Formats: sequence, C-alpha cells, structure tokens
Amino acid sequence: MIRKQVTRQALDAWVDGLIAAGRVVGAQKKGGRYAFDDLRRAADLCLDYDVTILPPKKYFLPPKEDILRFSDGRYESVSDAAPFTLLGVHPYDMAAIAQMDKLFAQDNRDEHYLARREQATVVVCDIERMSPNIFAASVGTATAADGCDALITRVGRAYVIESHTAKGERLLAGLAGAPDADAVTLARREQLWEDNARLMSRRELRVEPRRLPRLLEDAYDHPVWEEKASQCFACGSCNLVCPTCYCFDVQDDVEWDPSRGVRRRVWDGCMLTDFATVAGKHNFRKNRADRYRHRYYRKGKYVPEKIGDFSCVGCGRCVSACVARIADPVEVYNRIAEVQ
Ligand code: SF4
Ligand code: SF4
Repeated sequence: MIRKQVTRQALDAWVDGLIAAGRVVGAQKKGGRYAFDDLRRAADLCLDYDVTILPPKKYFLPPKEDILRFSDGRYESVSDAAPFTLLGVHPYDMAAIAQMDKLFAQDNRDEHYLARREQATVVVCDIERMSPNIFAASVGTATAADGCDALITRVGRAYVIESHTAKGERLLAGLAGAPDADAVTLARREQLWEDNARLMSRRELRVEPRRLPRLLEDAYDHPVWEEKASQCFACGSCNLVCPTCYCFDVQDDVEWDPSRGVRRRVWDGCMLTDFATVAGKHNFRKNRADRYRHRYYRKGKYVPEKIGDFSCVGCGRCVSACVARIADPVEVYNRIAEVQ
C-alpha cells in the first residue's frame, strides 16, 4: 500500500497529469449543484461537494446504451468500454458500486457492465461536507469503503492519498516524489473517520438493516404504503437518483428493413406506472401503493436476500428528489420497525 501526503497544489498537479494521460471523470460544480463529468483541468475537481445530482453508476450502467446490433440473421455484441479514472466518489456511492458488482456478476453475468468496471480505476474521497438528508452512518457507508482502488482524505490543509489495489498503485505512480503520510496526519485521519460517522448519524435508522427482511415480511399490509403512495406522482425521480437502483428495459430499434437494427437498454424505474406492464397490457403492479411497497421491499428484503447487503446506502438523494416528500427510507423503515 502506498500512502502519500500532499498539498492541494501537488494534488492538482497529479490530477492534471492523469488528465493528460487519459480520460478522468470527477465531481464538479454545475449551476450551484454538483455532478460527475469529464474533467478538463484539475482546478474543476470538487472534493468538498455534499452530494452529486446523479450517482456515478451512469458510468457503468449508462441511462441508454446499445448492447447488440443485428443484421440479416447475424448479431454482434456492442461495447464501448475503455479505460478511465473516476475521481472523488463518496464512500456510500462506492458501497453502491460494490453491490452492483455482485449483482451484475451473479447468475447471467452482465458483460457490458463488467467490462466498464474492469476498465475503471475508482478513487474514493472521504466526505468533507454532508448533505442534509444523508444517513450513511446508519447503514455503515459513512467512511472509507471496500472496493475502491485508492482513497483521498483531506486532513486539515493536507490530502492523504492511499492505494488499495494494484490499479491504485499504478495511479499513484505520479506521486512517487511526494512524502509518505506521517503518523500524526494518519492519526488525525482516524479521528476524522470517527467524527464523520458520528455526524452522519443525525438522521438515524432505528432498526438494524439485517432485521428488515424479517420485519418487512410482516409489514405487507402496513398502512404506511397506502398513506405515502396516495401522494406519489409516479414520477420515478427516486429511482433515477438512487445509486442502487439498476432496473432497465430492453428495446429493439428496427430499421425499415426489419432484419436490421439495434437492441438498446434504457434505465427503468419500479415507481413508474408501466414498469410492470407485460404482454397483453397486463400490469401486475398497477396500484401506486403496490409499487411504493415494492421499492422498499427491494431495498430492505429482496436484494439483501440475494447478495447479503442492505440495498440502501443512505445517500439521501431520494429524499431531496421527491417533490411529494414521501421518499424517505429512514421514515418508512422506522415506521415499520415501530409496530413490531
Ligand atoms: S433509497 Fe434513497 S437513500 Fe437509499 S441509496 Fe437509494 S437514493 Fe440513496
Ligand atoms: S420521487 Fe416521490 S413522487 Fe416521484 S415516484 Fe418517487 S416517491 Fe413517488
């Protein structure tokens, strides 16, 4: 493991070197909010953002992508996977990527997703500024996550940059001349992790996530589903912004000659009215309350039963994105836990 300690100036020089060598994506300020986008210069990189509008999942599972081209009875798989560095991912978003890694490698391996992951070098940054709706400490994602290639932590005026994998080590090669992180700074970093975990527990899930599958089993007829869903616009915003939502639709775009065309996948969302519409226009989740409940079952029961992880990483994006103010997992799961 390499652990360097640099000034912001040295960090920027390193990032400018990475940009000169290949594609680098990072969080940037856009009209008063933050978004991941391609970086042109290190000065645009924001490491003190609160939360980005969309999570970085869009770089592994794009909102729209061609997956197959077909022509005259032949078909070829299409992939645009190419090397890139993703800089400044918050720990909760890294936890979400780690969950998707498991899901997309299970059963039928999703080669499109996995090829992009393989090509990516992901650098996490510890959170410097919290969004008001975050509850990462309740779900164990407030601090340095597994799965990243390198980690950046601001400690006072210095930045500690640490490699976690061989890819991360290669990335840090450009910092060979920088001093190793000293013991005092590393001790302050430990303290910062403790502080972050404490600060991010202000919004608290009062139930251990591992208990939720069992609690939800008995909560199928809980009044919270109807109560909340009666105000739902079925806009799908909570799905769109969620780092752990990964549902997609597959559509064929056929040319005038029906033997030729493209198979495309696009993001879908379980809160949308037609999400569960199948052949014959039968919709097996037509009712808004059924869709609303399904979303919380998916995060709290179905995905945990599949991969062993609670499928909400506590980013709070859905809370901010919901105009009806009904999409708060803390509120919903605490209500479920109250009556048990
Ligand atoms: S359910 Fe909400 S808080 Fe949880 S990961 Fe998704 S967007 Fe974030
Ligand atoms: S964001 Fe709110 S209103 Fe929109 S689908 Fe989700 S819960 Fe319903």
